[in-house]
Amino acid sequence: MLKKEGRNMSTKKIGWIGLGNMGVPMVKNLLKAGFEVTVFNRTAAKAASLQEAGAKLAASPAALWDVVDTIITMVADDAALQQIHQGKDGLLAGAGKAAAGDGSGARRAAGGGAGMVIDMSTVSPATSRDLAAKLAAVGVDYLDAPVAGSVKPAELGQLVIMVGGKKEAYERAVPIFEKLGKAQFHLGEQGAGNNAKLAINTLLAFNMQGLAESVLFASEHGIRPEAMLAIIGESALANAITKMKTANILQANYQPAFALKHLAKDLRLAQGQGLHTPGGEAIHDSYQQALVQGWGEMDISSIFPFLMGEKA
Ligand code: NAP
Repeated sequence: MLKKEGRNMSTKKIGWIGLGNMGVPMVKNLLKAGFEVTVFNRTAAKAASLQEAGAKLAASPAALWDVVDTIITMVADDAALQQIHQGKDGLLAGAGKAAAGDGSGARRAAGGGAGMVIDMSTVSPATSRDLAAKLAAVGVDYLDAPVAGSVKPAELGQLVIMVGGKKEAYERAVPIFEKLGKAQFHLGEQGAGNNAKLAINTLLAFNMQGLAESVLFASEHGIRPEAMLAIIGESALANAITKMKTANILQANYQPAFALKHLAKDLRLAQGQGLHTPGGEAIHDSYQQALVQGWGEMDISSIFPFLMGEKA
């Protein structure tokens, strides 16, 4: 059971849920910046390296409200985000108890400022609006704040953060965003951050698919992938993604920095938001097929071996 810590809580104390490829380096940056971070992860063992770095461990999402009033979530998808909010140990029940006069809710009622959930996962705008409404009913603000940038930018604190929600809540969160990213944008009401994220990940999917298709076409005409990737790397078409993923393709190393299943999920969400352009339809279908053929746990760059007809 976590110890309650009275009335001097602040956004220097943060609760964090989700310790996957992104969550772990992001929490490390907050610890380095002097935040006190209490974490929860479905698989508690993944917290070990962070506990060594100074993080505390909570027994449930709800228990985080006993020690903090700002909680960041970074989990796989809509289902995972709903799961950590629902049930007797979920964030909603915990926030409800707090609002009823226990823990941080008492402090908020005494004028200490609203609690806040900041979701940095990539989920649908509908889920953000749903959770925002439910949390608002118990006095908690909600920001959707998904990120562009993969594990390396996460490690370097160089993410780009796209935010939807109340301006005042956004301003309270900026000191946190500044430790996680190099730029943050307030874009409107809840769901606006999610829509921007789906737009940029559609571009990411085009980049990755374009790189793979270019190399595939060249190799079908006798030009080795090494040569074609070097040409692209020297050209005006090179960018951070093509450069980063060139190494994966050359070494046939598809260990996930960003798992293909997540990009396939983002393209489904984009379609759900009305992306029905010719390229959008094609890119959606390509990643869903790669997923069905077993490439989901591999990096997004495994779209290349998928297009080459390799088996996952
Ligand atoms: P990941 O490595 O697959 O980690 C997923 C996290 O979600 C883990 O902590 C996992 O817990 C948790 N989770 C999954 N299902 C759950 C459930 N039903 N209940 C509770 N927790 C659950 O994912 P990631 O790469 O860190 O990405 C996290 C989010 O950021 C995703 O929405 C992704 O699309 C987005 N994103 C990723 C990248 C990237 O490059 N990786 C970049 C930008 C945005 P367990 O440890 O127990 O499995």
